[in-house]
Amino acid sequence: MSSLFPNYARRPVHLIEGKGTIVKDEQGKSYLDFTSGIAVLSLGHAHTAIVKALQEQSERLWHTSNLFESPKQEQLANILIEETHFAHAFFCNSGAEANEAAIKLARKHTGKHVIITFENSFHGRTFGTMSATGQEKVRQGFGPVLETFRTVPFNDVEKLEAAIDDEVGAIMLEVIQGEGGVNKVTPEFAEAISSICESKGILLIVDEVQTGIGRTGTRYAYEQTVLKPDIMTLAKGLGGGFPIGAMLGTSELGETFGPGTHGTTFGGNPLAVRVAQAVLEHVFVSDFLDEVNKKSEYFVHKLNEALPSYKVVGAGLLLGLVCEDEAAPYITEAEKAGLLLVGAGPNVIRLLPPLTVTRDEIDQAVDILRTILN
Ligand SMILES: *Cc1c(COP(=O)(O)O)cnc(C)c1O
Repeated sequence: MSSLFPNYARRPVHLIEGKGTIVKDEQGKSYLDFTSGIAVLSLGHAHTAIVKALQEQSERLWHTSNLFESPKQEQLANILIEETHFAHAFFCNSGAEANEAAIKLARKHTGKHVIITFENSFHGRTFGTMSATGQEKVRQGFGPVLETFRTVPFNDVEKLEAAIDDEVGAIMLEVIQGEGGVNKVTPEFAEAISSICESKGILLIVDEVQTGIGRTGTRYAYEQTVLKPDIMTLAKGLGGGFPIGAMLGTSELGETFGPGTHGTTFGGNPLAVRVAQAVLEHVFVSDFLDEVNKKSEYFVHKLNEALPSYKVVGAGLLLGLVCEDEAAPYITEAEKAGLLLVGAGPNVIRLLPPLTVTRDEIDQAVDILRTILN
């Protein structure tokens, strides 16, 4: 009997060390990690630059609290908002916390309570973000959720238009639904959202907790669409394995989050901020992002060649292989063969290698997938 709550369906693999895309278990067996800790390890395991950043910072300053000004947080915020229309950042510790901040900011700014979210979305496990999440299984057993979220089918313009009224303060979505099945927003739907938000003065919240920080081949996934979010949230890939989340917002929203309105003890901790900065120094570089796109094209090409009957979805290195039946048994088989994968929705195999993955590692992963799926 485990001394941990059984709230995770954990797999019986004890991972003890990693380097780049490779992780090893207690028995010394090696795996290609195509989960990246669920889109977290942007630079792979134990990248020297972030190891060094953490080591150096850990000898200087661990924690100060947000009682004091923080030039380091300012610096990180500036890197995140550079060449965007955003003006401010708020730092926290996770994706759910970033979304929680976004929900509070949108409600306070608009004075309206209703936020539209979408079926199969995932926004987190806190009460607010669970209520925003369009998946019944996430809410089950927890009693009444916040009724001010309206869940609408994803990519359905008519249903979205029908859900808009004067009570709606914001629309919240993922550009690619990660947990929900690697479902991309269609260009028509993005157009519709943009024009609704503009004409009705509704705020747009884009949850880039999974898609952000180069994962889809651009700094942020919204940059590949017409969407111009008022608020954007980040976490997973931002810290490359160190917990950190962020919410970015436009200048119009600056006054709404005045002193004392919101906060967190650990948010923007010096260790997290230093590591995130090291991650961005590598990822927010056009050559690096070009390479992510090239590797993505290569990966998709190889998958199409090896598995012609499977549809490949997603963008950048957030890809999905759509199976006709449940994905879980294939994921177990791949693990035995030395390839770590994670599902998305019931029947999609998600492919999330570190952004630093090599073509050779992609070849090895495709070989394993070919054997298992054919
Ligand atoms: C993972 C995820 C979250 C939740 O992040 P946590 O750090 O687990 O709280 C929220 N939104 C999206 C899109 C995610 O993928």
